[in-house]
Amino acid sequence: MRIIDLHCDVLYQLSSREQPTDFRTDDTLQCGFVNLQKAQAKAQVFAIFIDEVIPVKERYMEALRQIELFQAQVLAQPEMVHITEWQQLSTLEDGQIGAILSLEGCDAIGADLHKLKTLLNAGVKLVGLTWNYENAVAFGAQEDPTKGLTDFGKEVVACLNDYDIIIDVSHLNMQGFWDVLPLAKHVIASHSNARTVCEHVRNLTDEQATALVEHGGHIHVVYNPPFIVEDGLADVTLDDLVKHFRYLADLVGVEHLGLGSDFDGIEHTVNNLHHIGDTPQLLTALAQAFTAEEIEGIAAGNFERYVQAF
Ligand SMILES: [Zn+2]
Repeated sequence: MRIIDLHCDVLYQLSSREQPTDFRTDDTLQCGFVNLQKAQAKAQVFAIFIDEVIPVKERYMEALRQIELFQAQVLAQPEMVHITEWQQLSTLEDGQIGAILSLEGCDAIGADLHKLKTLLNAGVKLVGLTWNYENAVAFGAQEDPTKGLTDFGKEVVACLNDYDIIIDVSHLNMQGFWDVLPLAKHVIASHSNARTVCEHVRNLTDEQATALVEHGGHIHVVYNPPFIVEDGLADVTLDDLVKHFRYLADLVGVEHLGLGSDFDGIEHTVNNLHHIGDTPQLLTALAQAFTAEEIEGIAAGNFERYVQAF
């Protein structure tokens, strides 16, 4: 079954590993080419992620560096097709894999809308406003939940709406989420789970999940063990992960769910789900709780339908 995954940090791995690595051949990359092929990936979102240790002044250059790596390593593979318009998803041939750029947090742009536009013109299709900490746009998931979108953040949202960009709320704090939702034209949680099932600040409350879907948004379930089971690092199972899919499906409808692995950005993995090539095992586990048609929707169809409606 072809899959579309909404979040991985392989560009960060390519950028930050001490020993240079190769996207095509390195099977230790959870979302490297070897594992994407094994997964029968239809499309993969590649996040530009700026590590908090990078000095503020160097963050924009780091974002450009990761775009350069996306071009030099990912798009250099003849099978990889850069998705700059969503209609391209429906024209991919067997063996081709769509490559989509996202920005995980606006830390790289400072308070400069021109920098944001440069990244959008390079092909960024989804933008998260924050990672876990404050920036010029908003406050992150690990911060004071009462502080929301800044005035500059409102300009950023308006710009993203103009460009028909999907606004990713996965890392926003509570107030930021509620500020952004009514303003956003296209909204998604690219890698978040259900907070009722696992109490974690990165997961969505029932109210958030419901409001997000009422606003036209989708939720892509994430495979990071601490977001699946409270205090869960070891022995988190596929069944534990399936519980989030089932809970969210009952809450908002299975047709609004998708995959958001977070591979190459997570320190621990779910048993039998160690890289994107293991996705078929997740799809098999989902069969306990969903029909084949519902699983095809989760795997790729729901997201394809979501972007077709733009
Ligand atoms: Zn993340």
